[in-house]
Amino acid sequence: MYDLIIKNAILIDDSITDIAIYQGKIVKIDSVISDPTIRILDLKQKYYVSAGWIDSHTHCFARSPIYHDEPDLIGVKAGVTSVVDAGSVGALDVDAFYQLAQQAQTHVYSFLNISKIGLIRQNELADMQDIDVALFDKTLAKYPHFIIGIKVRMSRSVVGENGILPLIKAKEMQRKTGLPLMIHVGNNPPELDEIADLLTKGDIITHCFNGKPNQIFDKQNNLRDSIKRAIERGVILDIGHGGESFSFAVAERAKCLDIYPNTISSDIYSKNRLQGPVFSLANVMTKFICLGYSRKRILDSVTQNAAQVLRLKNKGKLTVGYDADLTVFDIKQQAIELADSDGEVRQSHEQFVPLASIVADTTKHSLYIEITEEGSKNALRISN
Ligand SMILES: [Zn+2]
Repeated sequence: MYDLIIKNAILIDDSITDIAIYQGKIVKIDSVISDPTIRILDLKQKYYVSAGWIDSHTHCFARSPIYHDEPDLIGVKAGVTSVVDAGSVGALDVDAFYQLAQQAQTHVYSFLNISKIGLIRQNELADMQDIDVALFDKTLAKYPHFIIGIKVRMSRSVVGENGILPLIKAKEMQRKTGLPLMIHVGNNPPELDEIADLLTKGDIITHCFNGKPNQIFDKQNNLRDSIKRAIERGVILDIGHGGESFSFAVAERAKCLDIYPNTISSDIYSKNRLQGPVFSLANVMTKFICLGYSRKRILDSVTQNAAQVLRLKNKGKLTVGYDADLTVFDIKQQAIELADSDGEVRQSHEQFVPLASIVADTTKHSLYIEITEEGSKNALRISN
């Protein structure tokens, strides 16, 4: 007994397979799975399937005054089955965000801003009074399956005169739960060296390949020792592309030194989705084709690596017993020019194009299937 059979799917190693789903789980992966009574999504050996894409850094609290979007527009409609909102909300807004998130088909998670006000203005950490530890702890305890991490933004415009203090506070606050801490880096002060030296295994540096002066390379274009040490300690590098935080030049220099991000994420919200340079997670993934990354490395960064970093159990792998979150996509053989956040342009010979999202609800044992606009154009449909 199954709920859905995906037939003739190409896996990233170019093998062809059928996949059966039951009660929100992947239950069988085999060369041929047949059952005439079950609905079928036939990929006709033309399209790929992977574990559902996970975007580790987005902004999707629709009521946020600055960085707002709808989870399903950056999620299932774009081939992304799980999104993490990275600090748009603090403890004061999380109830409203939780209610909205429950209405989405996309899995939505929150990295709670250590500032109780969240991103209602750009400098949410300029006043240390906005860090309310008791309220923060209470909020984490209230939403253990929704709040899966902590966000702190450490750049000049955010912290004002407070320098490194908010990060010291965040590390203290993290200690009680051990949740992953995501640190936004940008313009100094605080200095990147000072930030990196405070980070421990599993902490996430987002905007890791930004091209600002406070970037991972020093003025001589050498990797900062502090970053080298952080990587050795197990600190995670996350892309967090955004409107101003991804530089091809920095990414290219990193690749020369064999430094790769653990996770590729978009930092998407309505403005950079509609006007660029982000547009979608798929578009950000294609930028790594420009850089010469293998398709597998790119996909791992939005599936198994992301699930591991975010500690999402049973997600991120196309394996029997795992949640049936899946992304169906094409790797379209068509050249495209793409710009980074600094307006630098590179060319890719192929593009990731999401065609469908399959999202498992493992509590209700049900399945949601979204065929994207591109999927419909390619005549992708469920039969039976
Ligand atoms: Zn962000």
